[in-house]
Amino acid sequence: MENCLFCKIARKEVSSDIVFEDENFVVFRDINPIAPFHLLLIPRKHIHSIDHVKEEDKILMGDLILTAQKVARSHKLAGYKLHFNVGRQGGQVIDHIHLHLTADLPAQTGRKP
Ligand code: 5GP
Ligand code: ZN
Repeated sequence: MENCLFCKIARKEVSSDIVFEDENFVVFRDINPIAPFHLLLIPRKHIHSIDHVKEEDKILMGDLILTAQKVARSHKLAGYKLHFNVGRQGGQVIDHIHLHLTADLPAQTGRKP
């Protein structure tokens, strides 16, 4: 999708603070965090929202959850929250599916992540 902001972030045409990436996903810091630790996890594949996920995306969506788990573990988070906003009435502003990962402090260091 040529004019999608998050596709541009995935292609590195728009800069962002990327903390993890692989062939299917890019994980970067939210520019306007709502918690001390706030990441956005996106598939490289452009999917509009949770409401647009198809049968063919089942494995990708499962891998998205495993990616969230991996990134949370790598940051030694004591606990965290995952959420999707879906549709304008659900608070979704960017129309490329993204999983919010928010947390307070990491478990072991006591430092801000
Ligand atoms: P939504 O409300 O669509 O679920 O969440 C979109 C999120 O994207 C918001 O938390 C917002 O702060 C974040 N965001 C919007 N534009 C940018 C950007 O250019 N860079 C980054 N890193 N985050 C962005
Ligand atoms: Zn996109």
